[in-house]
Amino acid sequence: MIKPLIAANWKMNKTIAEAEDFAMQAKKKFAAIGRDIIFAPPYTALYAVGKILKGSPVHLAAQNMHWAEKGAFTGEVSAAMLVDAGCDYVIIGHSERRTIFSEDNRLINQKVVVALKSNLKPIFCIGETLEERESEKTFDILRQQLQQGLNNISSDDIRHCIIAYEPVWAIGTGRTATPEQVEKAHSFTRKVIGNLHGAAISDNIPILYGGSVNPENVSGLMSQRNINGALVGGASLDIESFAKIVGF
Ligand code: PEP
Repeated sequence: MIKPLIAANWKMNKTIAEAEDFAMQAKKKFAAIGRDIIFAPPYTALYAVGKILKGSPVHLAAQNMHWAEKGAFTGEVSAAMLVDAGCDYVIIGHSERRTIFSEDNRLINQKVVVALKSNLKPIFCIGETLEERESEKTFDILRQQLQQGLNNISSDDIRHCIIAYEPVWAIGTGRTATPEQVEKAHSFTRKVIGNLHGAAISDNIPILYGGSVNPENVSGLMSQRNINGALVGGASLDIESFAKIVGF
C-alpha cells in the first residue's frame, strides 16, 4: 500500500518571508499527519524553507534543475546545488517546462538520470494536451513520454521515482480530469512501467495526479485505486486550502 503523497508546486510565487511563514504554519499543522508531503518553493526560498522543515514530515523539492554537473550555464542550478540547499526531490518535465521552455523527452531524460545519480528523487511529469486527448492520442503520448523520459533508468533507480500525471488541459485551468479519466491514465502508466521493470516494482511507484486539484475534488480523486496522491499548483499557495487537500 502506497502512503498518500501530496506535493505543492508554488511555481514563481512567494518571497522568502512568505515562504518561511507558510513553512512555519505547515510544520505545526502537519506534525502528526500520516501522509507524505512535499513543498517545491522557488529556488530563492529553498534553503530557508528547508531549514524550517527539518525534522518535520514535509520534504523539500526543487521545481527544475540543469542536467550538467557545473560550468558555464548562466542562470541555471545543478542537482548538487539542490542537494546542498536541502532538497530530496526535484520536479522534472513539468508541462510548463515542456511548452514554455521547449524541453523535450530527451532533455528531460538527461535530467532524470542526473537527478538519480545525485540522490534526488525525480517527480517526473507526463501528460497530454487537449488536442492530443481529443484526437485519441493520450495513451500514445503517455507511453512515449514514459519510455523516452525514463530511458536508461535501471529497475533499482526507478524505485526512487514518483510519476505525476498532469494533463496539460487541466493545469491552472480550473478544469479537473474526472477520477475515472485519471484512473485510466494511471493504470496505463503503471502497466507501461510494469512492462519495463516488472509489476513488483511498478505496483510500488507513487503516481500523483495534477491539474486543478482543490479541497472539493481531492477526495473523489483519491478514492481511485491507482491515484496515490496529488501535485497541487494554485490551491497549494494558501495554507488553509492546502491543509484541506492534505487532510482529504
Ligand atoms: C501544477 O502546476 O503542477 C498544477 C497541477 O497546477 P494547478 O493545480 O494550478 O492546476
